[in-house]
Amino acid sequence: MAKIYFVDVTNRDGVQTARLGLSKLEKTMINMYLDKLGIFQSEFGFPTTRHESLYLQANLELAEMGVLNDIRLEGWIRAATADVETAFKLVPSIRHLNLSISTSDIMINGKFQGRRSKADVLKMMSDAVDAAKEQGAESVGVNAEDASRTDLDFLIKFAIAAKDHGADRFRYCDTLGYDNPFTVYETIKTLAENVEMPIETHCHGDLGMAVANSVAGAKGAIDGGQDVYINTTINGIGERAGNADLVATVLAVTKSKAFAEKHQLGRPIDLKKAWRLAKFASYAFGVPIPVNQPGVGANAFAHASGIHADGVLKDPQNYELYDYTELGRGEPELVETGREICSGEYSGVSGFSHLMGRMAISFKDTEEARRILELVRYANVEAQKPLVEDELLFIAKYPQIAKKLLTLTPPD
Ligand SMILES: [Zn+2]
Repeated sequence: MAKIYFVDVTNRDGVQTARLGLSKLEKTMINMYLDKLGIFQSEFGFPTTRHESLYLQANLELAEMGVLNDIRLEGWIRAATADVETAFKLVPSIRHLNLSISTSDIMINGKFQGRRSKADVLKMMSDAVDAAKEQGAESVGVNAEDASRTDLDFLIKFAIAAKDHGADRFRYCDTLGYDNPFTVYETIKTLAENVEMPIETHCHGDLGMAVANSVAGAKGAIDGGQDVYINTTINGIGERAGNADLVATVLAVTKSKAFAEKHQLGRPIDLKKAWRLAKFASYAFGVPIPVNQPGVGANAFAHASGIHADGVLKDPQNYELYDYTELGRGEPELVETGREICSGEYSGVSGFSHLMGRMAISFKDTEEARRILELVRYANVEAQKPLVEDELLFIAKYPQIAKKLLTLTPPD
């Protein structure tokens, strides 16, 4: 039977969100957490963007080293031959790409202003897929931007052309969050039946249905006989009202009524890592987790009213659909309430050694401590907030990789 996989796009859709961004170290940490969670693929960045090059290469090195163990790292570019060439020039070891182009009349007319027809769109996409395969891409996904406002016959034609040119997956982008569970189910089922290739759902929350649409779209693909790759972002951070929240979507496909019995994951997800991942992303983006967010919100397992509290104390199943421990919650959080030593861009060796000592990290000699401290300072220049323990540990463990992540040299 067809299966469900997850493709997280936080490091692409999340970081292109207005007012929000991540440092290259933070993006790397996100990839590390996603890998541990069991996510199939991270859309880890923009291979044609100059300041991403070293970050992308460093993460591909982490994959080669076996540090990023199972997760597939895929870059997002426009479906244009020139962009494919630039991507392979700037990031020669990239092996997985998603190529994006608008497919709806409204975007083709509105964005290209009469300079391109639907036939041109088909040709640009097909040429870009050919180029990516020629350059050595092992997998190519093709993204139909604004698919939900695209004429279905054209969408089928577009996806079949992509498949004929060797694309491996078709991404159905509900770019404006226009679909509802009923329309997305029907459309994706029709696509799966007619195109016969694995489908990605990419749903936005402009009408508050990103998770519901992802679940319905996934069912559509599976009922149409195809594997589905659900696009998510951590805490739902993404363009405008955001994307399908990763944790909520995993919970929805694994815990909702009668869904998990009929629809299987292609790879096990270790939800115990969810809490740490969500907290880190919230800290890194500087966006608090809403108290009522599924699974990871402060109130997700909180009970106050008499009947509820009494019920949950007698048996949690009375008022909780799943247990907090399943999400890795329950450890007391140690928050410093007195004197605190933080990392910063002007940190010195004494404070730094104290910080690292608390995590039981010791250095060979002062020389080594100074070298790591220098990297930590640079990381703070980019992040402009104290690093978390996992980041400090990462830098101490992989100083060469950290150095690459922190090297930003604009081109002449
Ligand atoms: Zn998007």
